[in-house]
Amino acid sequence: MGYITTADRMLIGGELVESTSGAWEETFNPADETAIGRVPAGTREDVDRAVAAAQAAWPAWASKTPKERGETMRAFGEKIRARATEILHVEVADTGNTITPMRGDVGHAVDSLNYYAGIAHELKGETIPATPDHLHLTIREPYGVVARIVPFNHPLMFAVARTAAALAAGNAVIVKPPETSPLSAMVLAEIAREALPPGVFNIVTGTGPSVGEAIVRHPDIKRIAFIGSAATGRAIQRTAAEVSVKHVTLELGGKNPMIVFPDNDPDEIAQAAVKGMNFTWQGQSCGSTSRLMVHEDLYDAVLERVANIVASLRVGDPMRDDSDMGPINSAGQYRKVMGYIESGNEEGARLVTGGNRPEGQAFAKGYWVRPTVFADVDPHMRIWREEIFGPVLSVSKWRSIDEAIRLANGVEYGLTASIWTRDIKNALNTARRIDAGHIWINGVGPHYLGVPYGGMKNSGVGREEGIEEMLSYTETKVLNIVL
Ligand code: NAD
Repeated sequence: MGYITTADRMLIGGELVESTSGAWEETFNPADETAIGRVPAGTREDVDRAVAAAQAAWPAWASKTPKERGETMRAFGEKIRARATEILHVEVADTGNTITPMRGDVGHAVDSLNYYAGIAHELKGETIPATPDHLHLTIREPYGVVARIVPFNHPLMFAVARTAAALAAGNAVIVKPPETSPLSAMVLAEIAREALPPGVFNIVTGTGPSVGEAIVRHPDIKRIAFIGSAATGRAIQRTAAEVSVKHVTLELGGKNPMIVFPDNDPDEIAQAAVKGMNFTWQGQSCGSTSRLMVHEDLYDAVLERVANIVASLRVGDPMRDDSDMGPINSAGQYRKVMGYIESGNEEGARLVTGGNRPEGQAFAKGYWVRPTVFADVDPHMRIWREEIFGPVLSVSKWRSIDEAIRLANGVEYGLTASIWTRDIKNALNTARRIDAGHIWINGVGPHYLGVPYGGMKNSGVGREEGIEEMLSYTETKVLNIVL
């Protein structure tokens, strides 16, 4: 099979360019391991070029009115939408995520552009009545050059939706796509080149140690926004601190509990538990409720139903509308998931379904794993404590609410949680005691436009997706005027 797209250039200063290395990295379809495209192997010099271009571009961008910036961002969104089908096919082939739910990703990206375009006037300051003989006021200024480092699970969506706030605030951005799924960013480079002033939006492809680290170490990038694993997030904080004082926000992993009280319908819970696991992206979602905690009265009924639904999920070609689950994103991620399944078996969890590769010629190549459920998972087991970022659901039972809270909070992460009960007091009291930044009550999964998202504990720092994200791309300056 040949390359699926001819888009293979980075975007620096309004030009589609190769890397200074002159080298390329091929990218592979995780369903069959064939090469489907290539991207420039970016370098530190490429990052320097991008920063210089962004430095030159941001003052004029920031000088536009919020209305003007908003109009440009909306036009950018329309141009992305015009190439939605092409982006979808590139993204599905490059990530392995199934096509039906991936149809939403371009829409989410454009919605976010429009949302921040619409609230750009909220970049306003305050007057503070601290003393009668002064006028104390605040103004917000953009950082100037900011960076966004993107993970592999929704590369296009994150590259657009999670740069919109920075653009609205008047910054120029540098995006670093993930190395195992960088292709959609090459299509985006072509679109951004047409839609935005040169240097306002730059894309530099390459590895974490090369381009990622060069971004973090660059003295002219004070504001870095990262979505990825907790280990990389901590490395970024460490590296950034070696260079200078930087504003780093982190959206990291999760090991999210779904807590089920006994006053529930087991069929509804089983459906929700499977949905919450995001098997459609092979469980590779930070918000996946990968720990299902069911009250003992409902445990057997829910477990049986969950096992049946998960066993019936159709694993197959992610391009097919009727596939429920595709391949794991990369060889490395596949090995990680298989390692966790092995550890679950070794540590004595009860394998209920899945746990191996699917059989048949269609799965001879590629990074395939059957959707997997472990029951009776003990809080000391690695599959309970550590983020797998794969299609592995761990189920356990609880008896008292104190035990449930202890279990839920007994991990290093605190991103999302889902609480199921018809008793409003139970729901709210439980929500108050759970260490998580984003909690659904009698629901699971969706992000809502304008509603903040982010984690407590080692799941991150900062909140994205609401107005707070836009304000986080500004610095406050205070003026004290003597009257
Ligand atoms: P990762 O940390 O391996 O990589 C993420 C990005 O960081 C990639 O672009 C990578 O090249 C770059 N990178 C790697 N090392 C770097 C370094 N030293 N300096 C700078 N950049 C570096 O994560 P991943 O495997 O791509 O993504 C999966 C992780 O992302 C999971 O832990 C998942 O939970 C998390 N995630 C979180 C959210 C959220 O909103 N909280 C959303 C999606 C994914």
